[in-house]
Amino acid sequence: MSANPTSPQSPAPDQPFRIGHGYDLHRLEPRPPAGHGKPLVVGGVTLDHGLGPIAHSDGDALLHAVTDALLGAIAQPDIGQLFPNTDPRHESQDSAVFLEEAAKRVRAAHYEILNLDATVILEAPKLGPVKAQIRARIAALLSLSESQVNIKGKTHEGVDAVGEGRAIETHAVVLLARRA
Ligand SMILES: [Zn+2]
Repeated sequence: MSANPTSPQSPAPDQPFRIGHGYDLHRLEPRPPAGHGKPLVVGGVTLDHGLGPIAHSDGDALLHAVTDALLGAIAQPDIGQLFPNTDPRHESQDSAVFLEEAAKRVRAAHYEILNLDATVILEAPKLGPVKAQIRARIAALLSLSESQVNIKGKTHEGVDAVGEGRAIETHAVVLLARRA
């Protein structure tokens, strides 16, 4: 009988390296009272902006993509399966909790993170001034050195929903190595 795939103890296949990809998008709306947007949190850092994500949790699209990249790398259920948005315990949840659970599962599967590369596509505000802070925060959450974490900021050149500032989009890839 095979192990329960949702168990944190379930080992990933015995391969020296595993790659994982994560993607997320959240619609952005005006903050209350004009809309229902939550504070705009990206990689655990709150940005000063009149728009924020529509989300059940805190809507941190970057941490969600990184969480899914880690879970994907060890072929485990994705963030939506592990933390259903119908569960009241996750209402306005700090997404660091999701990331830490994914990191715990990576360790339980006997892998370690070699590096993480992520892209945030956000029309405004500019990510540049907070990029170093986001990088430091994610490195700390995953117990990595900052040299193992890279964050890129892009705009969507004014086109489509992301370019019109109505959504934030994120991508992340991680590389894991099997622990000796
Ligand atoms: Zn999300």
